[in-house]
Amino acid sequence: MSIKGFQGTSLLDFPGRIASLVFFGGCNLTCPYCHNPGLVLDPGQYPDYPVEAVLEQLQSRRRFIDGVVVSGGEPTLDPGLLPFLREVKSFGLAVKLDTNGLRPEVLEQAVAEGLVDCVALDLKTAPARYGELHGGPVTIDGLQRSVRQLLAGAVDYELRTTCVPGLIEEADIHAIGELLRGAKRWVLQQFVPGHSLAEDLREVEPHPAETIRAFAEVAGGYVGEVSVRGL
Ligand code: SF4
Repeated sequence: MSIKGFQGTSLLDFPGRIASLVFFGGCNLTCPYCHNPGLVLDPGQYPDYPVEAVLEQLQSRRRFIDGVVVSGGEPTLDPGLLPFLREVKSFGLAVKLDTNGLRPEVLEQAVAEGLVDCVALDLKTAPARYGELHGGPVTIDGLQRSVRQLLAGAVDYELRTTCVPGLIEEADIHAIGELLRGAKRWVLQQFVPGHSLAEDLREVEPHPAETIRAFAEVAGGYVGEVSVRGL
């Protein structure tokens, strides 16, 4: 098990709750706009947090926090994720899981066992373009299965898209919208180039605010509600 980061308290990452953040290393994508490139490209450069120490911290904070956000990297790749979540839930804490949705079997198990209270799933570009997000092969069957599971409503969810120029244009919003059709809510967020994994993306101008708002109009044709962040 490879926990690479721990932050005691955050008000931002689990809406409406005070949460601790836990970061897992490694990912099955290399998104050019990723803001945690170290965790993705070379997680071994960071020491592992001892799991017992993280659990002790969470247990001692349980009167001051409402929950735990589990992020990465891609947490569902770690075989220690589900045992870790079982411990966290035994403390009575809520769990939000950030995932790219490519390992639906882990998500399904976590939901079936009641180990997650909210899943934040990123839709990164049109499904047919996911191969552009990684040097190796990417199969999107898992993504489609994860989306179907969330839309079935067994757990609260947030569907998010970062509007990276080139990866998210109007045609991509339509293509993702087809996948999300009928979802209750879809969040479009502004791209912040600063620490992007791909160096050439660090100089790219984000889409203008009016373009993101136009994307939101398009997205609204597919889901119940669209919100925009970061403008
Ligand atoms: S953005 Fe998320 S899915 Fe993409 S490489 Fe970074 S951690 Fe992995």
